[in-house]
Amino acid sequence: MTSNWQNYYTPGTVAAALDILQRHEGRARVIGGGTDLLVESRRGLRRPLEAIVDATRIEGLDSISAEDDYLVIGCGVTHTTIVNDPQILRYGQCLAQSCGVIGGPQVRNTGTLAGNVAHALPAGDGTIGLLALGGEVEVASAAGTRWMPAKDTFEGPGRSIIDRHREILTRLRFKRTAANEGSAFHRVMRPQGLCLPIISMATRLKMDGDIITAAGISMGPVGPVPWFAEPAAEILVGGPASEEQFNTAANVALENISLRTSKYRATAEYRETMIRTYLPIILATAARRAGARS
Ligand SMILES: Cc1cc2nc3c(=O)[nH]c(=O)nc-3n(C[C@H](O)[C@H](O)[C@H](O)COP(=O)(O)OP(=O)(O)OC[C@H]3O[C@@H](n4cnc5c(N)ncnc54)[C@H](O)[C@@H]3O)c2cc1C
Repeated sequence: MTSNWQNYYTPGTVAAALDILQRHEGRARVIGGGTDLLVESRRGLRRPLEAIVDATRIEGLDSISAEDDYLVIGCGVTHTTIVNDPQILRYGQCLAQSCGVIGGPQVRNTGTLAGNVAHALPAGDGTIGLLALGGEVEVASAAGTRWMPAKDTFEGPGRSIIDRHREILTRLRFKRTAANEGSAFHRVMRPQGLCLPIISMATRLKMDGDIITAAGISMGPVGPVPWFAEPAAEILVGGPASEEQFNTAANVALENISLRTSKYRATAEYRETMIRTYLPIILATAARRAGARS
């Protein structure tokens, strides 16, 4: 099999990686685990490149660490590492759950959360888990390094404001859930045939007794980009963690999206029913988890 790049680089520092990208002036591309990029290249969906720059070998970016209130995940960290990390399991359950449903073990052993976010697909599971947690990404370019909300990086299906020919998503982070917070994720999939998600959803709730004081909801695919469902989350704040409130949040979410029928996924009606069914369930799970740790 012939590759459609000329050189494969494994830089050990961010500076060296940026230097290679700069030298190739847009004709090189960053790669993580390659579980999306290589598949697309082999299908001829990507134009030939002068160089591939592997971000997974950069020193210090292959681990998960606690920094101030945050858990910080390097761009070389695989889904398998996230799923098994005790801190993520304790402080970011919906992220562990969402990375845990990605592909099979081989894909999870290789694919990274950074690649999932940088690829900007509307149904990226890890991305949806990160969004509910209010996740942020660090982007390094020749101009410097900046943190930004992950939700602001998506421009359209597969389109990110991160220029993957010139910039590197170096780290991801989210604030550790406190003892009175909980999160949850659920994906509805066809049980057989094409492994396309029908709908994936994640939630994070902060509680003061029975009252919700902060909320995050994300879902996809419900449009061109992974959706941070602000209107549905806002309606919950100040109210009780009740079935009625959770059903209202599902209604508000549905009022703000226009679901499509897809022959590969499901009918719009079925997908609507899945949101009405499972969003209240994972909201209740997040509330229960918050209670369990307070
Ligand atoms: C069989 C199979 C099953 C899959 N199942 C699922 C699934 O269930 N759910 C799901 O969400 N995904 C799934 N995927 C897609 C894929 O595995 C994930 O999206 C994975 O997280 C991609 O990460 P990666 O490191 O392999 O990205 P790569 O393929 O290396 O890169 C993906 C994109 O991100 C860019 N990129 C990667 N890393 C960086 C970085 N650090 N900085 C800047 N740009 C970067 C690349 O240029 C490319 O555009 C599946 C893939 C396969 C092959």
